[in-house]
Formats: sequence, C-alpha cells, structure tokens
Amino acid sequence: MTTRTSAPSRIPTPIVARVSLAAWRHNFATLKAAAPQSKFLAVIKADAYGHGAVQAARALKEADAFGVARLGEGVELRAAGVRQPIVLMEGTFSHEELALALHHELDLVVHDETQLSMLEERARTAAAGTDPPRVVWLKLDTGMSRLGFAPDRARNAAERLRVLPMVGELRVMTHFACADEPDSSMTREQLARFELAIKEINPPVIGRGTAVSSVVGLANSAAILQFPSTHRDWVRAGIALYGSSPILGRSAASLGLKPVMTLCSRVIALRELQPGRSVGYGASWRATRRSRIATVAAGYADGLSRHLPSGAPVLVAGRRVPLVGRVSMDMITVDVTDLDDVRVGSEVVLWGDGLPVDEVAAAAGTIAYELLCAVTRRVAFEYF
Ligand SMILES: *Cc1c(COP(=O)(O)O)cnc(C)c1O
Repeated sequence: MTTRTSAPSRIPTPIVARVSLAAWRHNFATLKAAAPQSKFLAVIKADAYGHGAVQAARALKEADAFGVARLGEGVELRAAGVRQPIVLMEGTFSHEELALALHHELDLVVHDETQLSMLEERARTAAAGTDPPRVVWLKLDTGMSRLGFAPDRARNAAERLRVLPMVGELRVMTHFACADEPDSSMTREQLARFELAIKEINPPVIGRGTAVSSVVGLANSAAILQFPSTHRDWVRAGIALYGSSPILGRSAASLGLKPVMTLCSRVIALRELQPGRSVGYGASWRATRRSRIATVAAGYADGLSRHLPSGAPVLVAGRRVPLVGRVSMDMITVDVTDLDDVRVGSEVVLWGDGLPVDEVAAAAGTIAYELLCAVTRRVAFEYF
C-alpha cells in the first residue's frame, strides 16, 4: 500500500480515500473488452478525477495513451516518469505553453484557428527545427458547440496542419454531447456529421496520394458502453475507469464496473436526542422521536457536497442510514437510531464500496464526476 497526503506523512487522519488498484484494472479490462479493436486512451485529467494521476498512470500502464486537460497535468506525469503518449485534450493556450508541451513530448489537440496559427507561427521560427514531431488531434465540433472546427473547415485545417514539421501524425476527433442517454438521436447526428467531415478531409480520389488522416477517435465512456458504431481507431474512457456509471438510469454494477475510490471516515461522537431537538447549523432537521445521532469527521472541506440534504445515504458500520442536518465544514451528522452497535470509532463510508458514488451524487443533485474531483488535499489517500 502506498499513501498520498498533504499532511506531514504518518499523522493519522480520520478521513481516508481508499483507492483499489484491482478495481481500476478491472474497469480498464471491462472497457477494453467492450471496444476490443480500438486503441485505448485513459482520461486521467483533473488528477484522474480526484484519484491521483500518477497512480492512475501506473495502475493503467497498459493504456495506449493518457489524456489530460492542462499542461501542468501532462508535465507532472512526465516528471513522474510516465513514458506513454500523453494528449493535451484542449491543446495549448499560448506560445509559451506550446513550447513547453513540445519540450515535454506531449501530444496536442488543435481545436481552433488561434491554436492552428500558433503552430504555423512556431513552424516559421528557428525553435521549430528542434521540435520532435508529435501526434496532433484535429478536433471537430459536430454538435457540442464548445471546442472544435466546424466540419466545413476541417479540410482546410487538416491541409494546413499536415505540412507543419512538428505534426508527425494527424488524427481527427470529436466529442459527444449526449452519449449518456440510451436513445440519443444527437449521438447519431454527431456521428453522421463527423463522417461527412472525414470524407471531406480524405476525398477518395485515386492517385491523389495518401489520406490526410484516416485515424479517428470519438467515444467517451458512455459511447464505449452503448454505441459500438462509434468505437473506431481510438476510444477515450474517463468516468467508467473510476467505477461510476456513464449511462443515465444504469447502475455501475449492472455495467460490470467496480468502485475505485471508497471515501471512509469515522464516528467521532454520539448523542441521544429527545423529540423536538434540532441538529446542526440552521437547525434544519428536528428529531421526531428519541434519536441517536452520530457525528462523523467528514465535511465540505474534505469534498463532501454541502448540497447533500437530510435523508441522503451514508453507510455506518456497513448499514445505510440517513444524513440529518446540514453538511458542515468538518463534520456531518447521521441518524443511527435504528442501529444498535454504533460507537465512537465506527467506520463510515461516504461513497464507494457498498454505496455507489452515483447515488450520493444524485442525492446532492450532481454527478459523480463532480464529487470525485472535489475530494480535497486534506483527505489521505491509500492505494491498495
Ligand atoms: C473528459 C473527456 C473524456 C472522458 O469522458 P468520460 O465521460 O469521463 O468518459 C473524453 N474525451 C474528452 C475530449 C474529454 O474531455
């Protein structure tokens, strides 16, 4: 077991994120099996959705590439000795970032004219002569309306990119807006627009030389698991690697995914309350019977959502009990009246094994992505 904590090491802390390397590899294998013909890019942006990017890269070392969102994330992985291709999935945002990305041998996404001109400008400078050729992903906007060239600009962008010295290989990508919905006409429309754009880029004219790019990637976790027609050359899996369901209305377990992070803490106090007594800030919850309330060392400063309402599920000593009262900075309170063996020190699971993070997220009115990314540095991480 290895650990990661911001506190001086070996100072005990009640709240711990236990990260299962076995579950990580299991989810990876499950997703690989769902798209067996495709190369696999493991998305480990945002510190691997809060799980630790360096540990993720080690646990998932059979991935063909890793995807990150920020230059610093890619540089951190390189500094830790990660040798696989690393894709900066939004590209770079300045000349300085571009130079650093090339220096650290990161692969680039190019999604707009600004980024394309920056590459062209760099190609005209002396520095360009020393740039090692990289994989460049040309990103197309097929309906997400966030990043990417319009399909009718794809041809022009591809032809300009492929003559640049630092573009060793050109690939084409897009990103789905609604792949989490089981019956999404949007996904079908995006796929159709993407295919048209690819035809534009690679007109099937005999004798015109090699295709500009025939390597493409579209599928996120949801598309990997429910739209096989999107798999193609590369898939990009994020959330499902961490054991959360990417599909609306489906549990992670029903998709064969296992929770990677179990966020655990302990009961630090217990009290009996008479009917009518309130609990916590704002006195938002009141006992309607004689109640036994456990105070747990976990709050929004650890990454719990303050939007969790009374009634949200918490596991105490392996059983589900309702949260009562407001989430505070360092504590929550739960109603353990119906359990008879809870004591100070009893183990509490906030999400993970026995309590899917998707359920906790739903109770907080959000998605597992947000809860996982929000775990703060105050929480100790244990990898086993
Ligand atoms: C984050 C991201 C993914 C992964 O999405 P999941 O829903 O977590 O699988 C894939 N592609 C791109 C471009 C992304 O930004």
